[in-house]
Amino acid sequence: MKKISLKMKLTLLYTLLMSGVVIIILILLFSLSSRQILSSVQSRLRNRVYSASDDIEYDSGRLDFDSDLDDTEWGIYLSVYQEDGTYLYGRTPTGFSNTMAFSDNALRTFRQGNTTYYVLDLYTYVKDYGNVYIRGVASGTDAEEDMIIIRNAALILMPLMVLLTAALSYFMTRYTLRPVSRITETVRQICREKDLSKRVHLGEGKDEIYQLARTFDDMLDQVETGMKREKQFTSDVSHELRTPVSAMMLQCEELLDDPDLDEKTRSGITFLDQKVRYLARMISQLLMLSRADQGRQKVQMESVDFSEMTDMVVQEAQDMAQERQIRIQADIRPGIHITGDETLLIRMWMNLLENAVRYGKDGGHVHVGLSEKDGFVIGTVEDDGIGIAPEDLPRIWERFYQADTSRSRSDSSGLGLSMVRWIINAHHGTIQAESAPGKGSRFTFKLPVGK
Ligand code: ADP
Repeated sequence: MKKISLKMKLTLLYTLLMSGVVIIILILLFSLSSRQILSSVQSRLRNRVYSASDDIEYDSGRLDFDSDLDDTEWGIYLSVYQEDGTYLYGRTPTGFSNTMAFSDNALRTFRQGNTTYYVLDLYTYVKDYGNVYIRGVASGTDAEEDMIIIRNAALILMPLMVLLTAALSYFMTRYTLRPVSRITETVRQICREKDLSKRVHLGEGKDEIYQLARTFDDMLDQVETGMKREKQFTSDVSHELRTPVSAMMLQCEELLDDPDLDEKTRSGITFLDQKVRYLARMISQLLMLSRADQGRQKVQMESVDFSEMTDMVVQEAQDMAQERQIRIQADIRPGIHITGDETLLIRMWMNLLENAVRYGKDGGHVHVGLSEKDGFVIGTVEDDGIGIAPEDLPRIWERFYQADTSRSRSDSSGLGLSMVRWIINAHHGTIQAESAPGKGSRFTFKLPVGK
């Protein structure tokens, strides 16, 4: 039942209810009308038999029967017998075996074959002649036939009515639940497009669903305002921090340029310089991401020699790799051009390479690949380092998420891959990571050529 939609559940409920009500009404109707038919047959039988008793006379030595007795009006047959049962006059229904013993004024039911007969005998005195029996027989068949016709009609109409009820209740439920589908669709759109500006906008209406939609829109207003405020705050903070941090960086550089610095002060300032650089990098990444969130990050699309850029980034990363005796091997297909933002693409490559070196193993290897296939540029960065645990793998793209805190703390922020993914998405591409803990990781991105 859990898997059936609300629409179907309500349709089933209405149909079952409707069928139940119809069945109960039909049963009541049948039992009442069969009783009604029976009592009307019985009263007609009684009337006919009693009035017949008045129509028999004995005149001039012979019994005189009113011709009315021959009528089988209303399906009632009348016949007259002597006291010993000898037939005198009248008719009985064809098929009725007239073998029943006489019983005065008792209405009896007699079933023969498929037919029910109602029999009423009246023992009556005919002046100057003596006693006779008048027998009235009514066949129940006529009345029952009507009932059978009604029953058959009901049997045909019942399924039709159930079908009609099902169809009507389905359309009615669908119509009533249409606003709910709209709410669901809006929520889906918000999740899919990550666009909090969407609203249900059901319009004016007083029922519960309209109220729910309005409450939902109000809630979205609040969430959107909150998110905007948070993004603005991050952007403002990063922006405000940029100037003092740049000044501190400059100051450190100037101080370190002084040849007269003693060793202790130099190492102290070098330490400060590293921390300030880390701060500057983090602020720049944060600023970029918050601008991207607000749709304010500029993407300057131009034709870029991607092969040459990759080559250059690999050269730059060599120094960093050397410190850990890591060999970077590059397999770059020359002449690959794409339309993209040069600065952003360099940032993307640098982040992937820095990660490969940072989380690679001493004396290990990093492989950088760039190729083109089916209108897509495929880039890969592969290392043989610590790898990423399967439970961390889906989360490495989240902001500030660090899978291996022991290695990353000092000079990393957990923002790099969020930025990488945003850059790839801004270029209409996709990126994915595969990894085996202790064996290494491979990052593969796909960018459309010419986009
Ligand atoms: P960080 O600045 O910490 O490197 P990133 O967003 O670049 O932040 O990466 C997030 C986390 O993903 C890292 O903290 C690290 O645990 C994991 N990670 C990223 N690249 C690799 C890699 N090549 N090998 C192993 N782990 C990686």
